Amino acid sequence: MRMRHKPWAKDKLAAYPQFVVGNPIEYKGNWKKAFGNDNPIHIEVGTGKGRFITEMAKANPSINYIGIELSERVIVAALDRLIEAEVTNLKLINFNAENLEDCFAKGDVDQIYLNFSDPWPKTRHEKRRLTYKTFLARYERILVDGGEIHFKTDNRSLFEYSLRSFSEYGLLLTNVSLDLHNSDFEGNIMTEYEEKFSKMGHPIYRSEVKYQN
Ligand code: SAM
Repeated sequence: MRMRHKPWAKDKLAAYPQFVVGNPIEYKGNWKKAFGNDNPIHIEVGTGKGRFITEMAKANPSINYIGIELSERVIVAALDRLIEAEVTNLKLINFNAENLEDCFAKGDVDQIYLNFSDPWPKTRHEKRRLTYKTFLARYERILVDGGEIHFKTDNRSLFEYSLRSFSEYGLLLTNVSLDLHNSDFEGNIMTEYEEKFSKMGHPIYRSEVKYQN
């Protein structure tokens, strides 16, 4: 995602501690403390400008959401959305998902969303793909038993790669769609990338996968 440099972004993130968790490591095993309740927690890895996660939080007040985004210049746009939406069941973390286990203990997370993850098409960058086996192992170590990943992309190669990776890891694939917007799936909430690429005529691929433990 290309954005202009925003030197003030760090200060802005720090100015809203009610929305941006500055030290997520503190809440490992105790996210109840951050939200003030023990509702289920769904996280989006690579949340971008936050449209999906904010709309999900508005639509599902009894679920707590956490948007995780590596780029502080991008997550600041998600913060703007959150300030406007004023929901209390959404927090943002400016963090690299490679370190998820520093913030979440086994069972802290009930569901994971991966939306339009960077495809990293070169083979030498395979390990950076958020559906690479080491990421699937990290997700397993923070999810509840039988937890799920819900994955959407417009990138056919990434989708095929990811279905293979899920299946080789032993995950159960359900609700696979090769054209989400022309399927009978109800209640889809679009992400920024989803809107952009579907307007360009790209079909949207989606799958749910379940850990079988
Ligand atoms: N999910 C959004 C959407 O669908 O509009 C954004 C998609 S964008 C292509 C992918 C986002 O994932 C970028 O904002 C990128 O910074 C973020 N990202 C990539 N790798 C990440 C990682 N290891 N940890 C956290 N965020 C990551």
